Amino acid sequence: MEELTFFLKQQITQSTDSMSDMHGKLSDSELKIRELENFRRGLETKVEVKEQENTKINLKASDLEFKLSQIERQNEDEMKLLKLKHENELEEISRQKERILREKEDLTNDLAKTKELLRQQEDTNLQLRNTISSQSANYLQLESDHRAMKNNLETTESTLAKRESRIAELEALLHTANETVVTIESKLRDEETQRRKLHNTIQELKGNIRVFCRVRPLLGAELSDSMSHIYFAEDQKSIELNQSQTSADGSKTTSKTFPFQFDKVFQPSITQTEVFGEISQLVQSALDGYPVCIFAYGQTGSGKTFTMEGPDHPNADNMGMIPRAVLQIYQTATALEEKGWKYAMEGQFVEIYNETIHDLLGTGEIGKKHDIRHLANGKTIVTDVTTLMLDGPNKVSELMKKAGQNRAVASTQCNDRSSRSHSVFTLRLTGSNVLTGEISEGILNLIDLAGSERLSSSKATGDRLRETQAINKSLSSLGDVIYALANKENHIPYRNSKLTYLLQNSLGGNSKTLMFVNISPLPSNFGETLCSLRFATKVNNCQIGTARKVVK
Ligand code: ADP
Ligand code: MG
Repeated sequence: MEELTFFLKQQITQSTDSMSDMHGKLSDSELKIRELENFRRGLETKVEVKEQENTKINLKASDLEFKLSQIERQNEDEMKLLKLKHENELEEISRQKERILREKEDLTNDLAKTKELLRQQEDTNLQLRNTISSQSANYLQLESDHRAMKNNLETTESTLAKRESRIAELEALLHTANETVVTIESKLRDEETQRRKLHNTIQELKGNIRVFCRVRPLLGAELSDSMSHIYFAEDQKSIELNQSQTSADGSKTTSKTFPFQFDKVFQPSITQTEVFGEISQLVQSALDGYPVCIFAYGQTGSGKTFTMEGPDHPNADNMGMIPRAVLQIYQTATALEEKGWKYAMEGQFVEIYNETIHDLLGTGEIGKKHDIRHLANGKTIVTDVTTLMLDGPNKVSELMKKAGQNRAVASTQCNDRSSRSHSVFTLRLTGSNVLTGEISEGILNLIDLAGSERLSSSKATGDRLRETQAINKSLSSLGDVIYALANKENHIPYRNSKLTYLLQNSLGGNSKTLMFVNISPLPSNFGETLCSLRFATKVNNCQIGTARKVVK
């Protein structure tokens, strides 16, 4: 215990010491607290100041914030604008890029082409180089040739000079020759005019009315017949008919001879070409401006149509007088062009049946009326009749074909109508000479007459009788007109038939008339043959012509 009490008394002494220590410390702390409070108060004032400053700063800050947001908005707008601008620029750039790419592509292509050209050029160059080297070899050759030629040229030049002087001489000669040609040409024209006059004089001397007799050959079944009743003389102008008659009791045979003479007699063997040879002079007269009539007279089947037109399907050898006349006229007219003549040819083809005119080149209309008019200028026209310009040699076959078709139509009315009517082919030739001023108006009529057989009037009745009378009347009128003309009678009975009226201006005056009398070789036709030869003789006997005037 004493220890404890000691300890405690120690403890207590220590605590009392600490207590007094603590009191000292406490008063220190109280001092310090007062100091600190002062400091705190000082700080509080400072804080207040600071807070005031802070509010000011805050105000400033919010002001700044506002300004900042404004700036930000501005920046945003500017950014937008910039962005837009940028986008546009980008677009433009991409466009440019595309363009540049295209240009690049083009350039690449061009480059390829250029490269190809270059390659070709190189090839060419190579070839050229080769050519040049071969040519330079040639050149040397040429140079030596050139020297040789130069020498030649000098020689030639001197020859040329000689020739030029010769040419001058020849030109002078040519000039004289040309003058001669001009003189000769005008002489030729005068001579053509002269020839026309002389030709006409010859035709007149031959007689303005001529008669040719033509005997057709035996044909087909007829070949067994005899032609011994006809005798041809060698002069080709005489023909004889012999008739032997046996007496009634048969004891005596007497023979009777009928001699005839014509301008020409054609035996059966004579060809169309030869016959035309005899009439071509008359065709020439038509070209020279005279009226010409060529008739074919004879019984049916004696060869009139064959003579005038030819057979049904003619060729160049057997075609008749009509196509031959047209061809000759066409050829002569062409040849006369160099003498200054220009011809127009027009053709008409009519049929006179029962004293009525029918147009063979028309539309085939039956019963169309046609009148004959004689104009004051001496021309004759048939009203409403078709006229065909014969402006080429092949037109005539066209014309004949048309006529054939129209005849076929007409023959439905009367089947032997064409042998019972007159066919009149008329060719009008109008020529004018630009050099001499001459005018020529000729007319060529080719007439295939109706069959001349004498039908016994007692057998015919009605229409047939009238038809027969019409044929007989018009054929005898034709004989009368020719007779009256030849005998220079005051009255020429043209009006007695349609045929003579139609041909009024082509018969008489300075006209030329030719009649073929066609003969059948058959013994059974003896009577008709005799009649035909007698009719022809009546016409022939008046072959007086202007050179042998009749003194009454
Ligand atoms: P027409 O016109 O006078 O009645 P055609 O001219 O019709 O006579 O002739 C009768 C027949 O005789 C026809 O078949 C025709 O071809 C033929 N003929 C006529 N003349 C000759 C001739 N010279 N040569 C050959 N045949 C002919
Ligand atoms: Mg006939």
